[in-house]
Amino acid sequence: MKEDASMVFMLISAYKSLRNVMSRETWRRFGMFWSFKVLSSTQVVAWWVLLNKMATRDNLGRRGVVLESNRCVMCGGEEETVNHAFFSCKIA
Ligand SMILES: [Zn+2]
Repeated sequence: MKEDASMVFMLISAYKSLRNVMSRETWRRFGMFWSFKVLSSTQVVAWWVLLNKMATRDNLGRRGVVLESNRCVMCGGEEETVNHAFFSCKIA
């Protein structure tokens, strides 16, 4: 019972912290996004795509990872960005 109360307190704190750091629009999207009826792993990947946090080559380069090329590993035709990898790559 004590652990349940501690968990509730932790969740409420996390909720308030997120609410304070997110803009109104991001918060609205966040709420709408988590109400979708899909698997949670799918939601996490979709959320990373939405926030452009996937480990694509352009993002890795911005984080300081040195790569031989920033080209898409699937088609090699364009820079590997979230938009390319998930929406415009003809092979992926
Ligand atoms: Zn590609």
